[in-house]
Amino acid sequence: MCGTDSANGANGHVQPAATNGNANFRSNPYQPVGDFLSNVDKFKIIESTLREGEQFANAYFDTETKIKILAPALDAFGVDYIELTSPAASEQSRKDCEAICKLGLKAKILTHVRCDMRDAMLAVDTGVDGLDVVIGTSSFLREHSHGKDMAYIEKTAIEVIEYIKSKGLEVRFSSEDSFRSDLVDLLSLYRAVDKVGVNRVGIADTVGCASPRQVYDLVRTLRGVVSCDIETHFHNDTGCSIANAFCALEAGATHIDTSVLGIGERNGITPLGGLLARMVVTAPDYVKSKYKLHMLKEIEDMVAEAVQVNTPFNNPITGFCAFTHKAGIHAKAILNNPSTYEILNPADFGLTRYVHFASRLTGWNAVKTRVGQLGLTMTDDQVKEVTAKIKTLADVRPIAIDDADSIIRSFHLGLAENTDVAQTNGDAAPVPAVVA
Ligand SMILES: [Zn+2]
Repeated sequence: MCGTDSANGANGHVQPAATNGNANFRSNPYQPVGDFLSNVDKFKIIESTLREGEQFANAYFDTETKIKILAPALDAFGVDYIELTSPAASEQSRKDCEAICKLGLKAKILTHVRCDMRDAMLAVDTGVDGLDVVIGTSSFLREHSHGKDMAYIEKTAIEVIEYIKSKGLEVRFSSEDSFRSDLVDLLSLYRAVDKVGVNRVGIADTVGCASPRQVYDLVRTLRGVVSCDIETHFHNDTGCSIANAFCALEAGATHIDTSVLGIGERNGITPLGGLLARMVVTAPDYVKSKYKLHMLKEIEDMVAEAVQVNTPFNNPITGFCAFTHKAGIHAKAILNNPSTYEILNPADFGLTRYVHFASRLTGWNAVKTRVGQLGLTMTDDQVKEVTAKIKTLADVRPIAIDDADSIIRSFHLGLAENTDVAQTNGDAAPVPAVVA
């Protein structure tokens, strides 16, 4: 900001920023780096649980699960696209693809096909809104998978793209294993398909080797070469899939592939919930207005059940302890103001926070809250005394909520007997130790 006369005032003294009442003067450390490339507040999600997710070792989605449960739930959640397994994979895959297209969902339906005219023709006939076309471009894939050179890849890509466009459908063209492909090959291929009017080009970290810095560099370079949208797909072999998706958006990518709980080939791709945890912090208005965040847990539970896994304890947002506060210092601050130790608000996801008070790390503020939840009344000194008793027992063995509640109740009973003071609601039924 310039030091103009008006800002400094007539006598040259700087006016305090607070006097103009403009909240924008406060800096927010969670705001994205502001540059013209960034799409962190206008990205689209291509939800691939019904394509990439089918490649998860445990996945077998029957037709009913796909059509009656998962596709409608993802659509209601607000994803922009639902990507389906190629109809060329099997006869049932083709039928499921057709049936999902007939559901009349708001989300656009895509199917993921090899860069091959026969696959494209089969897919076009299913009624999808668009095709995600893919071909391997790394030397590994060119030598050991399809055995084609770059000239052949470019020629075939253009034929397939022009065919799909002639049918009035959306088309994305992606390389596979993009980060181990030759950069010059990759950029000239993308430039060629951009020229014939592809809707999106795709960068795929098929083997999960890319780091956030590499992602930023490649997407930013590509952003300068093509005018179409840029889709990105990140595998999570080295735990970078969310960070890579975020960096891709910062560098100008427009679409991110996700799957529920991150399920996919090997250990999967960018998880839908984890990506939204990241993005709701960065672009809260966009994310909260676009996605039904309170449905996230229900959708994750559906998928977890369908593929017979548990939601990991440390899953962003929905891990069982994602909003559990344990240490006494944390509990005190959380009870005063949740933002002190929470960057995500559980209420945004229809969830509640839990202040853990049954441990040796507890503090008297957490116990005081529990005393109140049990309908008991104690002075602060008395709460400190009973906190010490809880800690003493918790030093000897792990204790449950019931143990801590018993200590509180019997301590309270002793107080009542000693002082002969009647207490209110002393026998109230236990209530969950949940605040807000
Ligand atoms: Zn993949």
